[in-house]
Amino acid sequence: MDQALLGVAGFPVGHSRSPAMHRAALAELGLDWRYVKVPLPPERFAEAVRALPRSGFRGLNVTVPHKEAARRLADESGPVVAAIGAANTLTFAQDGSIAADNTDAPGFLAALATDPRGLRATVLGAGGSARAVAWALADAGALVSVWNRTPERGRALADDLGVEWAARPAAGDLMVNCTSVGLGHGSPDDAVDRLGLAGVDPPATVVDLVYGATPTPVERWARCADVRFVHGLEVLVRQGALSLERWTGREAPVTVMRGALA
Ligand code: NAP
Repeated sequence: MDQALLGVAGFPVGHSRSPAMHRAALAELGLDWRYVKVPLPPERFAEAVRALPRSGFRGLNVTVPHKEAARRLADESGPVVAAIGAANTLTFAQDGSIAADNTDAPGFLAALATDPRGLRATVLGAGGSARAVAWALADAGALVSVWNRTPERGRALADDLGVEWAARPAAGDLMVNCTSVGLGHGSPDDAVDRLGLAGVDPPATVVDLVYGATPTPVERWARCADVRFVHGLEVLVRQGALSLERWTGREAPVTVMRGALA
């Protein structure tokens, strides 16, 4: 039988850290499967993905800008996908049918590793990842408020999910940076200004989904106050682990996956 394939589809996708993490996991599990990058422009996404099962693909991680298109093309999807409106994991059955899951939301909660029920949580951003994180926190019983640079997008997201909108970010108990601020080379002070955090003390727990620079500006801001910091790579590992379990039916070797990204 042909070798089973997994992959990550995005545009661009060259920067993705998922292959290193999944290849290490597959080796640890003793599975002779390959995990590859699948660069797909948006106009080719649906047609190309439907053809992947015939080439031996069992599953696909989906990243920017395809998460909403992934939800639309799936033959079946669960309530989390419907609530968030996006999927990051596609699983191909033997008959070629496609199931969609969202492991961003449960992966974020696994990385958080604490029960957010009753916590005042501020989500910075109103893009795809903010939507998954705000939904996950609200569903887990946190009191969520959303702040975004473009207020209309923040308000729309908050209304859609039935959470609060914030004109300025408040510290609360937990803050999650779901913006792309920190991906570039700006100074930490610039980043703190751009996120409206000047004069705000870091809350007890800070999560930064951004993981490009080390440390990120948000990480430096949090570490100055000696609060708990959860790194974006841990969120990446946890969502990847849940995807891998969905495809293989095996428990993901989280420590090995984390080590592959170190
Ligand atoms: P997205 O949909 O493009 O949203 C980007 C968000 O960043 C928007 O809210 C945007 O605000 C805000 N933003 C961009 N530039 C800004 C600036 N200069 N000042 C203030 N806000 C700014 O992106 P996404 O998919 O949600 O991803 C966001 C980040 O999370 C990316 O860095 C991505 O790599 C990271 N991420 C990490 C993981 C993980 O597993 N660790 C998972 C998903 C995403 P406007 O609405 O005002 O434009």
